[in-house]
Amino acid sequence: MLKRVLIANRGEIALRVLRACRELGIETVAAYSEADAEALHVQLATEAVCIGPAQAAESYLNQNALLTAALATGCDGIHPGYGFLSENADFSDACGAAGLAFIGPSGDAIRKAGSKSAARELMRSAGVPVTPGSNGPVSSVEEALAAAEAVGYPVLLKASAGGGGRGIRRCGSGKDLPAAYAGAKAEAAACFGNDEMYLEKLVLRPRHVEVQILADRQGHTVYLGDRDCSVQRRNQKLLEEAPAPGLSLELRQAMGRAAVRAAEAVGYEGAGTVEFLLDGENFYFMEMNTRIQVEHGVTELVTGVDLVRQQLRIASGLPLDFRQEDVRIQGCALECRVNAEDPSRDFCPCPGKVEFLHFPGGAGVRVDSCLYNGCTLSPYYDSLAAKVLAHGTTRLEAIRKMRRCLEEFTLEGFPTNAELSYEILFHPVFVRGRCTTAFLEEHLPELLDFSRRVGEREDEV
Ligand code: ADP
Ligand code: ADP
Ligand code: MG
Repeated sequence: MLKRVLIANRGEIALRVLRACRELGIETVAAYSEADAEALHVQLATEAVCIGPAQAAESYLNQNALLTAALATGCDGIHPGYGFLSENADFSDACGAAGLAFIGPSGDAIRKAGSKSAARELMRSAGVPVTPGSNGPVSSVEEALAAAEAVGYPVLLKASAGGGGRGIRRCGSGKDLPAAYAGAKAEAAACFGNDEMYLEKLVLRPRHVEVQILADRQGHTVYLGDRDCSVQRRNQKLLEEAPAPGLSLELRQAMGRAAVRAAEAVGYEGAGTVEFLLDGENFYFMEMNTRIQVEHGVTELVTGVDLVRQQLRIASGLPLDFRQEDVRIQGCALECRVNAEDPSRDFCPCPGKVEFLHFPGGAGVRVDSCLYNGCTLSPYYDSLAAKVLAHGTTRLEAIRKMRRCLEEFTLEGFPTNAELSYEILFHPVFVRGRCTTAFLEEHLPELLDFSRRVGEREDEV
C-alpha cells in the first residue's frame, strides 16, 4: 500500500482524498497555493507545502512545483483529484518517471481518451455506439460545413480538449456555423490551450447518463452502475442521481458493458466515467473522463463502494476485491451541487466569506465541503461550495430527504443556487424522473418565479 500521498488539488475533493488516505493509514501532504493557506485540508494533512501563488497556472497546474514538493516530502504517490492536472497525460508520465505513483490511468490511456474527437473513432472501432458526426477533427469552417451537411443540422461544435461544458456551441444552420465555429474555437484556446474542434449531431432532448467504472492493473474492469446527470445549465451539471431512473435492466447492462469495452479499448486503470447521451432506448458515447468525478458520491451511496479508497488500492498495485456480480445497487441517491452563484445576476459566481454555516445531517445524508464557519471561498477557483447527498430506499424517499436537507442547509455570506435546486425537487418533470438535458433551461423562468414567490411569502411573515 502507498505510504504517503501528495494531494495535488484543493477544495472539497482534496478533503475527500485526505479522508480516504487517513482511513487507510496513508499519510498526506497538502500542496496548496497562497490563496489556500487556511484551507481545511491543509490543516488536517500530515504535512503541507505551499507550491505557489493563487493563479492555478503557477500552483495547481505547476507540474515541477508539485513533483518537487512530492519528492522533498518523501511521497510515493500523487492524487490529482478532478480538474487541474487530473487529465494531463504528460503529468501522469512525469510522475512515473519520478518514481511516483500517479493515482489515475497511464499517460497513454489519458491520451487515447483525452482527445474527444480521437476517442470517438477509437470507440467506434471498439463497437461502442457514437453520435453521428465528423470523422475526426474539423480544421476549417469549410470542413465543418461539409461535416454538418453530411449529418444534418442542428449540430454541436465541440472542443477536442474540452471539459466542464466549455468550448461547445450549438449551431442550427449553415448561416450560424462560421460564428459558432469561431466562438467555440476561441473559448477552447482560452480554456484548454488547444483549439482543435470536432462536430456532432445535436441530439434533441437527450438524457445524460454515465457509467462508473473501476479497472485494476491485473486486467479486471467492472462497472458500478449508472448516474443520471441530465439536470444541467449551460452543459454544466447541477443535480445528479444514481441509478438513472426508469431504465430497463437490459439497457443498463448494455450501457455498463459498453463502458467496460470503452475502458478496455484505452487500456484503462483506476476509476473513470464513460458518459453517454441517451435518446429513447439508444445510447451514444460522448466522452470518457479519466479521473474521479465530482458526482462520484451518489454511486458510493448506492453501491457501498468507496471509490477513492479503490483508486488508492489500485495505484498501490492491489487487485479489485470484488467482481462484477458482487456489485449491488441499493436504493437511490441524489446530489445537489451548491455553488456560490447569484440567482439575481444570471447565476454569476459570487464567492466570499462564510459568515454562518450549518450543514444538514441525519440518516442517509452526506455533505462534502471544505467550508467552515469564518472561512473564505476563494474567487480564484470554481464556485462549488458544497455537495449535499441524500440516500433513500426509493427514489421518492431520496427526494423527500433531499428536500428536508435543503430546508436545513444554511449558508450566510454569499448567495447560492440552493433554492433553485429545492424548487427542482418539487417539479413534476423531475419527480417523475423524466428530465432531459433541456429541462432546466426550458423551465428556468417558472422555477425562478416560484422561488421569488416563496421569498415574498417569507418576507411577509
Ligand atoms: P464532472 O465531469 O466530474 O461532473 P465537471 O464537468 O463539473 O465535473 O468538472 C469538474 C471540475 O473540473 C470543474 O471544476 C471543471 O471546471 C474542471 N474541469 C473539467 N474538465 C476540465 C478540463 N479539461 N480542463 C480544465 N478543467 C476542467
Ligand atoms: P464536457 O467535456 O465539457 O463535459 P461533454 O461532451 O461531456 O463535454 O458534453 C457536455 C454536455 O453537453 C453533455 O452532458 C450534454 O448535455 C451536452 N451534449 C454534448 N454532446 C451533445 C450532443 N451531441 N447532443 C446533445 N447534447 C450534447
Ligand atoms: Mg462531460
